[in-house]
Amino acid sequence: MVRSSSPERAEHSEGVDRASEPIRVVVVGGVAGGMSAATRLRRLDERAVITVLERSGHVSYANCGLPYFVGGVIEEEDDLLLQTPASLHARFRLDVRVGTEVVGIDTGHHEVSFVSTTGRATGTLRYDKLILSPGAVPVRPPIPGFGRVRVLRTVEDAEALASDVRGTPRTAVVIGAGFIGLETAENLSRQDIVVTVVEAMDQVLAPLDPEMAVLVAAELEANGVEVVTGAAVAEVTDAGVRLADGRELDGELVVGSVGIRPDARLAELAGLAIGPHGGISVDERNRTSDPDIYAVGDAVEKQDWVGGAPTLIALANVANRQGRRVADDIGGLMPRPTRSLGTAIVKVFGLTAAATGWNEKRLREAGRPYRALHSHPLHHAGYYPGAEPMALKLLFDPDDGAILGAQAVGRAGVDKRIDVLATAIEGGVSAERLADLELAYAPPFSSAKDPVNMLGYMAENVRSGACELVSYDELDPLISAGWTLLDVRTEKEYANGAIPGARNVPVDVLREKIRTGPGRLVIYCEVGHRGHTATALAHELGFEARNLDGGYRTWLAADAAAAGAPRRLVGMPL
Ligand SMILES: Cc1cc2nc3c(=O)[nH]c(=O)nc-3n(C[C@H](O)[C@H](O)[C@H](O)COP(=O)(O)OP(=O)(O)OC[C@H]3O[C@@H](n4cnc5c(N)ncnc54)[C@H](O)[C@@H]3O)c2cc1C
Repeated sequence: MVRSSSPERAEHSEGVDRASEPIRVVVVGGVAGGMSAATRLRRLDERAVITVLERSGHVSYANCGLPYFVGGVIEEEDDLLLQTPASLHARFRLDVRVGTEVVGIDTGHHEVSFVSTTGRATGTLRYDKLILSPGAVPVRPPIPGFGRVRVLRTVEDAEALASDVRGTPRTAVVIGAGFIGLETAENLSRQDIVVTVVEAMDQVLAPLDPEMAVLVAAELEANGVEVVTGAAVAEVTDAGVRLADGRELDGELVVGSVGIRPDARLAELAGLAIGPHGGISVDERNRTSDPDIYAVGDAVEKQDWVGGAPTLIALANVANRQGRRVADDIGGLMPRPTRSLGTAIVKVFGLTAAATGWNEKRLREAGRPYRALHSHPLHHAGYYPGAEPMALKLLFDPDDGAILGAQAVGRAGVDKRIDVLATAIEGGVSAERLADLELAYAPPFSSAKDPVNMLGYMAENVRSGACELVSYDELDPLISAGWTLLDVRTEKEYANGAIPGARNVPVDVLREKIRTGPGRLVIYCEVGHRGHTATALAHELGFEARNLDGGYRTWLAADAAAAGAPRRLVGMPL
C-alpha cells in the first residue's frame, strides 16, 4: 500500500482495515481498463488479493489489432495476446480466471457470483472493492438476416472472421463506416475481396465533418472499395444485403460495425445508477453510485472535456487511464479526475484521419458559438522531397479563443498535428497561442512555421479582425446578395477548375487589374494564403473583402460531400 500523509487517504480507505488484512479487489473484465487497474494496483499494494474475472478465453488482448489480424498484417494470433493468466500471475500475482462470467453482484454482502462459460462451474467471490470494466457490446440491429453478420469485438470474433476470409469469399459488405468498419473494409480489401461499405449517415467517419470525411471516402473509392452512404440496410440475404431503396449489394461475407453500446447489464442488475446515454454513471473518481464499486472504460459515461456533460467515448487510452486512476484511488493516491476529448485516429489505405474534441456538426447542434478554420499545409518543408499536403481544421470559441476541436486528414504528419492540438486543448492553450508553440523543425519533419503554428496565425488574424473569413457554406448567400467572387489563382489553375461564377484576377496582377472600391468581394485562392494577401490589398483599395476559408480545396471537398460524390476528389490534392 502506498504510504501517504494526505488526509484524503483515510477517506479512501473507509470500511477496510488495511493495516491488518489485505484488501480484496475483484475486477470484472480483463482487458484494457480492467487489466490496467489490476496491474497498477499490484504496483501500489503488494498485499492486495486481486482477482480478475474474464468471460472470454483471453485477457489483455489487443482488440485494436483485430482488424489487422483479419487482414493478415498481424500474422500470428499470439501477437495479439499481450499477457496470459500465467504471465500475469508470475509477474503480478494476479488470480486471473478466463472463461468466467460474472452474472450478479450482491452489493449488500460485497459478493459477486460467476459461472464458467462452459457452464460447469459456478461460484461467489467476496470483495472489498469491485472494479467493473466489462466494455461494450456490438449493436445488432433488428434487421432480418442480421444473424449471419460477423462482428469484430473479441479475439474469438476475429478468429471467426479470419476463418471466413480463408474460405476466399470474392465479395464482402461492411455495414457501418466508423473507425472499425473502415479498418475492416481495408483489411478485407487487402485480401483481394471486393468490398462495399454501406453507411446510413450521409458520410463516413462520424467524428469528422463532411468536408473532411469525404476525403476518406475518396481514398476508399480510389482503392476499389465502393462507398454507399445515406443508405439503410433493410435485409441481410444469402447473397449480401438489400437496401431500403431496393438496391442489392453483393456480399458473400457481411460484417456489421454499426456501433456499440456500453455493457451496463451487470451494473443495472445490481441497481447501480445508469447515465443518460445508457452507460454506468460514475463520479470524478470513477466510483459508481455504490462507493465500493468502481467502473471504467467503454461501459461508463465519461465527462466530456468540451461540454462537461456525461458522454460515451469508447477508446483504449481512456479505458487505460481510468483503470490506472481507480487503482490509484484504491491504493490511497489522490487521482486527478479524467475528462475525455475523444481523440481518435484511423488509417484508411494511404490516408490517416484523426480528430479531437468536438466537430462542427456537434457545435452547431448544441448552438455553441464557434469559428472554423481550414488549411491545407504540407507536412514538411515543400522543398524537401516527399512533402505531402494535408487537410487541417480547427474549431475555436470566437470570444476567448479556446480550442474546441480539430480534425486532420492526410498521408503524413496527421498524427503529430492532432496530438499537438489535443495537448493544446488539455493545456488550455488558446487558438492564437498555437502561433507561439516552439515545435521541432528541420526540413524532413516540418516547416519553420509548422501547420499548427499556421493555424495560430490564422486564428490571430480572425480574432484581431486583420482578416475576415467567409466559410464555404456562407458563399452562396453572399453571391446572391451581389458580392463578386474573385479567384486570385493563376490562369492555369483557374482553367483547371474554379467555383462557378468566379472571375479570375491572379493575385500578382491584382494591383494593376482592379479599379479602386467601393465594392464587395469574396476572394479565394487554392488554400487561402494568396487569398489572404489579396483580401488585405482589396481592403487597401477601398473594397469590402472577405477571404474564403480553406480556399478552393475546402470548397471542392464540401461540394463533393454535399453532392455525395467523393469520386470527384480521387486524384485531387488534399
Ligand atoms: C476491433 C476494435 C478495434 C479498436 N481499435 C481501437 C483503436 O485503434 N484505438 C482506440 O483507442 N480504441 C480502439 N478500440 C476500442 C478499445 O479497444 C476499447 O475502448 C477498450 O478496449 C475498452 O476497454 P474496456 O476495458 O472498457 O473494455 P474491453 O477492452 O472490451 O474489455 C472488456 C472485457 O470484459 C469482459 N466482460 C464483459 N462482461 C463480463 C462479465 N460479466 N464477466 C466477465 N467478463 C466480462 C469482456 O469479455 C471483455 O474482454 C477498438 C475496439 C475494437 C473492438
